[in-house]
This record gives sequence, C-alpha cells and structure tokens, in this order.
Amino acid sequence: MATEGRLVKKVEKSRHVLAMSAEAPPVLRVQSPALVEFETADCFGDQIRSMTDIERGIDWDHINPATGPVYVEHASPGDTLVVRVESIETAGQGVMCTGGGFGVLADRIPDLHWRFLPIDEGVARWSDDVEIRTEPMIGVIGVAPVGEPVPCGTPGHHGGNMDTKLITEDSTVYLPVFVPGALLAVGDLHAAMGDGEVAVTGVEVGGLVRLHVDVRRDLRLTDPLVETGELVATVASAETLDEAADMATHAMAELLHSRLGMELHDAVILMSAVGDLQVSQVVDPLKTARFTMPRAVYEPTHGPLL
Ligand code: CA
Ligand code: ZN
Repeated sequence: MATEGRLVKKVEKSRHVLAMSAEAPPVLRVQSPALVEFETADCFGDQIRSMTDIERGIDWDHINPATGPVYVEHASPGDTLVVRVESIETAGQGVMCTGGGFGVLADRIPDLHWRFLPIDEGVARWSDDVEIRTEPMIGVIGVAPVGEPVPCGTPGHHGGNMDTKLITEDSTVYLPVFVPGALLAVGDLHAAMGDGEVAVTGVEVGGLVRLHVDVRRDLRLTDPLVETGELVATVASAETLDEAADMATHAMAELLHSRLGMELHDAVILMSAVGDLQVSQVVDPLKTARFTMPRAVYEPTHGPLL
C-alpha cells in the first residue's frame, strides 16, 4: 500500500475541465493511496503573459480550467476524499486584475486594470519598492457534484473555487464524494492572496501541485474541510456571505458534537471563545466563509477531530 502511494502519476494541464461534472471522462485512474502531480494553468488558462496578449483579446469562455478529473478507484458516494497537499510550485510570473465589472470596487472602477508580478525565490515583486512574500495556495480543488455540472469558477458542497488561503503546502482538504471515483480536479493556483480576494484575483499563476490522495469511509461530510498543523476549518459557500458564515458555523458545531461527543451548546461556547469565523472570498458566483478551530484547544483532551 505504502509503495503504491509513492508512485507519482502526472496529469498535464492540457487535460482539463471547465466544469466539474459526473459526466466528465477521467484523464487518469488511480488506486488510493496515490501520489498525483497536477500541472495547472492559471485561472486565465495561461492566456495572459503581457499587455500584448490582453490587447490581442482573451477568450473568456476558456477561463478557470481545472486539471483532471482523476478517478479514484473505490471512492463511492458517502465517502470522503482526503487530499494532502504535498507541494505547490508556482510559475515565474503572476497576473492580477480588477474592475470592468469585477471585484468589490467594480462600482468605482469601470475599466479592467491589470498587473504583472515577477515571482522569484519566494517573492512576488509588486514594484521596485514593494515585494510580497509568496504563500502559494490552491484556488480550485474539488470533486464532481451530483446533478448539473458546476463551472470551475463556482464553489460549492463539492469544493471547487473555494479560494481559501488555508489550502497551502502541508494542508489537507477533505471533500465529500458524490459520484463513483470522486473525479478530483485542481487548478487556479495563487502565489499569494488576501482573505476576501477583493479585486477578484489573487496573484494568479500556473504551476505544479503534488497531492496525496486517499479515501475514508468513517467520515461523512456535506461540505469541505481543511486541516493544517494548527487548525481545522469548515468551509461553506452560498449566495450571501451571511448564509455561508451560518453554514460554516453550523458545520463546525456539528463536527465537534458528532466527532468529539461535545454537547452542542458547549461546542458553540468553546467556538465562541477560541474559534474564528473568517471570510475566504466574496467575489465568486457564490461567497465562501470558513470557521476555524485551533487544534491545540481540544486535541490534548478530546483527541483529533478528523
Ligand atoms: Ca479562484
Ligand atoms: Zn485564482
């Protein structure tokens, strides 16, 4: 089993989908546990390298590609796909934009504006004076939903465009499986992003992601979770941020109740003392919120949540 898990299979970025769908033909089949390397294009499908590319025109029907989908043998509806992010390598230039109908300040910025940020040795260069330390993260990671395909630019119960900056190297994403094989797809790396993603972009970049993929049958989820060394987060997406925040908070309380046996009222009181209700993004077709609980608070006495 362990040996099987160390065999790396690679999926090239040309093998991608624009929507997560039960009907999408798998580009690779793996036995879990598996190590899979996904080459990913940026959210613009790698179309934009310079202002010249923008002047030439962008194919807006070809954005938010996600590499995959990968069929995980024996992953069945009701299971949980456990995806550990082993590494994220980003390309040498990031692109950002805002305005032109996009971003929180769309009302004030009628035209689309662009920035290109060279990236080298863990630094994205904003200007001669300002540099940004990179914290590479995955914007789009998800499985096929049931029913209608969901465009890769939209988040949901299946994950997708969660734009959650906790999804970094060494984090683990837990995704509910809805269709046989789960159909995992990944894309939309950011070299850095602030909570909210207020401009409508992070530092958008292509790259290479190595994921360790496994299946659990003892954990049944309705929405994604993210686990890091320090915390566990419930992630929820909805039409409004209020709804998303409510869903993420409910999900954490239920998790503490069902997994650790805490009384629901105690769970909420503890959450109110040490947990953080946070904004992932407010610019995608659905908004994403998360509730994060520090593992150090409950783990020594109650054991691990997941
Ligand atoms: Ca995104
Ligand atoms: Zn992005």
